[in-house]
Amino acid sequence: MTTHGGFEPVFCTVVPPHVLDKLASNDDPALSGPARRTLMRDSELRGRRRVTTEFRLAAAPAAKAPSDQPLRTLYDAGHGTGLPGTEVRAEGSEPGQDATVNRAYSGLGATFDLYLKAYGRHSIDGDGLPLDATVHYDENYNNAFWNGEQMVFGDGDGEIFLDFTIPIDVIGHELTHGVTQYTANLTYFGQPGALNESVSDVFGSLIKQYTLGQTAAEADWLIGAGLLAPSVTGKALRSMKEPGSAYDDDVLGKDPQPATMDDYVRTGRDNGGVHINSGIPNHAFYLAATALGGYAWEKAGQVWYDVLTGGELTERAFFTDFAKLTVKAARERFGDGGEEFQAVGKAWEQVGVRIS
Ligand SMILES: [Zn+2]
Repeated sequence: MTTHGGFEPVFCTVVPPHVLDKLASNDDPALSGPARRTLMRDSELRGRRRVTTEFRLAAAPAAKAPSDQPLRTLYDAGHGTGLPGTEVRAEGSEPGQDATVNRAYSGLGATFDLYLKAYGRHSIDGDGLPLDATVHYDENYNNAFWNGEQMVFGDGDGEIFLDFTIPIDVIGHELTHGVTQYTANLTYFGQPGALNESVSDVFGSLIKQYTLGQTAAEADWLIGAGLLAPSVTGKALRSMKEPGSAYDDDVLGKDPQPATMDDYVRTGRDNGGVHINSGIPNHAFYLAATALGGYAWEKAGQVWYDVLTGGELTERAFFTDFAKLTVKAARERFGDGGEEFQAVGKAWEQVGVRIS
């Protein structure tokens, strides 16, 4: 299938379909209702996104020199599904009464900051793309997503999921799908899809760490901490430190992520397990970052960023292709005599991904 300008925007929702499928089959309608509604909405959106994205790309005005400041606009969908909704906060304006709007505004800013200050990248496209986001999308909507042109956040059903603007790493995760879309454009299926997911988790977590000023040792390495309602037995959606340990709940089931290739999951669901097997490259990043110490965005993050944007990573790359490129990038960036390429190589070895 051909796509406009070579872009293949990913319709990634924060909560993967296998989690919502599980919820949708619950006997309690208070739990299954919102999950079913969210699944239906997501499937509608998946079918619709390509058309709108192609239109927007074709209609985009010529870019000016990118600014070192983000250009954020926040909209409120008022619990409807029309996008973008009513404008509620523009760039540079003071925080208003709505904490959801303010959190989304800050999250967009934090994402812009990490990419600019750590990697010299101007916004998602590297060319100052304005950052638009809509909050209060739909009713009891248990998800958040980047649709190829903007961020959209649901409020959650309050039973299983809380407000999707709460975890800053989730905002960073979604916007990073935009960065991937404009760079390596990893195909959203199987191993390249799991790499696409993992890259979003890596930079999502780094955005949180950068905002909190945390070292690799201090970080929680969780994706979506604070998103699960208090009644859920779990701490987050995923753990990069211990994939498979994020939740184990009567309603949600157990976190299915493997940490190593020994437990690689072969499945046709979830686009070939993109949110499942991402645990393996996630864990490799965690191992490399903690072995190197200090701020994870400076060394391990720089290496991953170099691979994502360097032009050598193909759209259909497998874990082993990605791993080899990280070792190469670590040598190029930090030298042959450095500990960096060794730590990166060892991390992949530990998760069972072959690099030689
Ligand atoms: Zn994603």
